[in-house]
Amino acid sequence: MVRGDMKYKIATIGSHSALQILKGAKDEGFETIAICIKGKEKIYESFKVADEIISISGYSYFKDIQNKLLNRNAIIIPHASFIAYIGHEGVEKLKVPYYGNKKILKWESDRSLERRWLKQANLKLPKIFSNPQDIDRPVIVKFHGADGGAGYFLAKNHKDFKKKIKLHHKKRYVIQEYILGVHMYAHYFYSPITHELEIMGFDKRYESNVDSLGRISARDQMALPKEQVDPSYLIVGNMPIVVRESYLPKYMEMGQSVIEVSKKIASPGLFGPFCLETIITPEGEIICFEISARIVAGTNPYVNGSPYTWLKYNEPMSTGRRIARDIKQAIQQGKLKDVLG
Ligand code: AMP
Ligand code: AMP
Repeated sequence: MVRGDMKYKIATIGSHSALQILKGAKDEGFETIAICIKGKEKIYESFKVADEIISISGYSYFKDIQNKLLNRNAIIIPHASFIAYIGHEGVEKLKVPYYGNKKILKWESDRSLERRWLKQANLKLPKIFSNPQDIDRPVIVKFHGADGGAGYFLAKNHKDFKKKIKLHHKKRYVIQEYILGVHMYAHYFYSPITHELEIMGFDKRYESNVDSLGRISARDQMALPKEQVDPSYLIVGNMPIVVRESYLPKYMEMGQSVIEVSKKIASPGLFGPFCLETIITPEGEIICFEISARIVAGTNPYVNGSPYTWLKYNEPMSTGRRIARDIKQAIQQGKLKDVLG
């Protein structure tokens, strides 16, 4: 992508949704850079999504290649692995141009701030038990930081909680009501250039071992060692979903209201891709248990576009490509700073 003599490149770390991001950037005419841990370059070469690969021996070396990225006029696209490896404080200090609003990271990474944001947006949230003694229903105990749900545990009452928390010495956690229902991860895109909110798609996660427990009967589960049947939530992949059409207005309203509140709490607000992680109960209530304020890997099944982006664009439009188009339009309109955080 060229404006005057400025040629911008799109860069991201090789993991999570990098294939989609880099492919989308190429489709929009950008040159691309994949930053890979030594030994993990092959995939990005094989799929031909990266014009250049910069190898580093560990993520702590990312800061050392910043000048290289600046010299190449690179714009970094963040994703969950990027935030997990660089840390949100590290991200705030980056000198390389960054797509997105860095101020929002604090709101999504701190569970209490995140809850305040979603509450203000009038979303229905799982009940929180600040005092373990108040636990009066099944709960899920989550630790702070994006470790992909590994290590979470369920507790059926206070006694069960006390026993299980002993294994997690000194970790910060939150006790959330366990919501029974089906999971629906809603992917959105909000452009600060068009000021429009778009629904990009939906997915559900494939998690080990929780998604395998239903494959054996309760009787056989009882016969297994306890550690094997205690649910765990290690994410291993994502599956596409098309949501019941009559739920779409509600999902649109939820996304819009999250955007409106974000403008007040972290001006200029959340923009680019984001995801509301929801559970739909048997009563049809949509409960939101988390927000991801950036691209989620649940958009990966839609490298060639989702049913929703097909309706809107009539051309293959992945979330990765939508990001690149936002940047392209911003460059063309002289508004690049509006999409950089
Ligand atoms: P990885 O680069 O795959 O080791 O992942 C780093 C972080 O990104 C982990 O904390 C994961 O939770 C998150 N992550 C990676 N892949 C996915 C996925 N498919 N869905 C949700 N989160 C993911
Ligand atoms: P999270 O790290 O918040 O994305 O959660 C990881 C996984 O834990 C989710 O994909 C769900 O399977 C499960 N989970 C999280 N919160 C709840 C909840 N309140 N009720 C039921 N399941 C949940």
